[in-house]
Amino acid sequence: MTGTIFGCIADDFTGATDIAGLLARSGVQVSLRIGVPDSPLTRTSPFEVIALKSRTAPVADAIAETRAALAWLQGAGATRFFWKYCSTFDSTAEGNIGPVAEALMRDLGTDQTVYCPAFPENGRSIFMGNLFVGRQPLAESPMKDHPLTPMRDSNLMRLLQPQVTRPVGLTDRLTVARGVDAVQASLAYHRADGVAHVVMDAVADSDLETIAAACRDMPLMTGGSALAMPLPALYLADGLLSKDAPRQATHEIDRTTIVLSGSCSAMTNAQVAAYIAQGVPSYQLDPLTLTQSGPQAVLDWLATQDLTDAPLIYATADPASVKAAQAKLGVAQVGALIERTLAACAVAARDAGARRIIVAGGETSGAVTKALGVSQLDIASEIAPGVPWTYCLSAGTRIALTLKSGNFGTETFFSDAQAKLDQP
Ligand code: ADP
Repeated sequence: MTGTIFGCIADDFTGATDIAGLLARSGVQVSLRIGVPDSPLTRTSPFEVIALKSRTAPVADAIAETRAALAWLQGAGATRFFWKYCSTFDSTAEGNIGPVAEALMRDLGTDQTVYCPAFPENGRSIFMGNLFVGRQPLAESPMKDHPLTPMRDSNLMRLLQPQVTRPVGLTDRLTVARGVDAVQASLAYHRADGVAHVVMDAVADSDLETIAAACRDMPLMTGGSALAMPLPALYLADGLLSKDAPRQATHEIDRTTIVLSGSCSAMTNAQVAAYIAQGVPSYQLDPLTLTQSGPQAVLDWLATQDLTDAPLIYATADPASVKAAQAKLGVAQVGALIERTLAACAVAARDAGARRIIVAGGETSGAVTKALGVSQLDIASEIAPGVPWTYCLSAGTRIALTLKSGNFGTETFFSDAQAKLDQP
C-alpha cells in the first residue's frame, strides 16, 4: 500500500475527474473514489480524490459527507487537503462552498484558508476578486442561466461572505505578481486582522504557481482544479512525494461507445450540435414526453443501435427550453427525471456491450456512475484540460469512462474523446 500524501474532496463528479486529471499530468498514480469509500484502505494512491455529489445538496448533508471524506483521507495518511469546487464558483447564498470550508477548517484545526477557482487554460480568471469566464464577468456569462446554480454576481467576496461566519478578504493580483513572499505576507496580514477566508486573484498559470508555492503547507486549500496542478512538483521537490511513487497504467478497451449528455451548458449545446452534424445516430430526450411515457422509447431505440457508431442520447437544450420544462415540472423534478433516464441508458448500453462511455454534465455524471456501480476510477489520458479518460470496473467488466463538466472541452469534444483512446 502506497502512502497517501494529498487528499482532495470535490463537490461533484466532473469536478473530481477534472482535478484528478490535472494531478495526473505529473504521471503519478491518482485514484478517484465515488463517494466516501466503505472499503478498507487497500490500493491507495499518493493522490486520492473523493467525488461527492454535494454541490446542490442541503448544507447539513454536504457538511456531513465532506467531514466523512476528510476522515477517510486522514486514515489513508494524507496531511494536505483540498476542497475542490467549480471554476465558476457554483453555489447559492446558503452554500455549499463556504459552510463546507468552515467545517473542514474546524476539523483540521486551522484558522485560515484560500479560495481560488481560477483556471486560466479554460478561460477562468480572477481580478480584484471578480471572476471572469473568458472575457465576460461571471454574472454576464452563460452561468447566469444554469439550471441549478444560476450565478448572478461576479464578485467572489460578495458571493462568499453570506456563506460563512468569519471575515472574507482578498489577496489581489498586484500582490500575487510580487511572488511567494508577498502572498505569504498578505496571508499573515489577513490572519492578524481575523480574516479566515482569503480570495486569491489569479489570471495566468504563473499566478497559480505562486499561490500554490506560497500555500503548499497549509492544511487546507480550496479552489478550482488548476490551483492543485503545481502541487505534485512542489511535493516532489520538498521530498513529501517519493521519486519512486507509482505511475499510471493503460489498458486496451473495445470501441463500442455510447455518448450521454444531460448538460445544458452553452459549450455542451455546441458539442451536441457539432456531433449531430457529423451524422452520428442521436436521440433527443424530451422532459414532457418522459413524464408521460417513461424511458421505454429511448431504451428501445438504444437496443437497435450499432455501438461502434458511438450513438448519442441527449437532453441538452437551450436556456428557454430548460426554463419552460422547469416551469411545467419543477426544477428538481425535471433534473432528477433526466438524470434517472440517462443513468438507465448507461446501464442498458453497458449490458449491450458498450465499453467506452462518454458523459456530459456534472450532476448527470453522478447519476450515471452510481447506476453503473462504479466506486474507484484510475485516471488515464487527458482529452481536454480538466477532462481525462478513466478506467473502472462496472458489473465486473473494465470500461473506459469520461465525465465532462458542462462548459469544458471544445466543440469537437465527443469525437476528440474517441480519438484520444485510440492513440498509442
Ligand atoms: P452541467 O455540468 O452543465 O452543470 P449538470 O448535469 O450538472 O450539467 O446539470 C444539468 C441539469 O439540468 C441536470 O440536473 C439535468 O438533468 C438537467 N437537464 C438536462 N436537460 C434538461 C432539459 N432539457 N430541461 C430541464 N433540465 C434539464
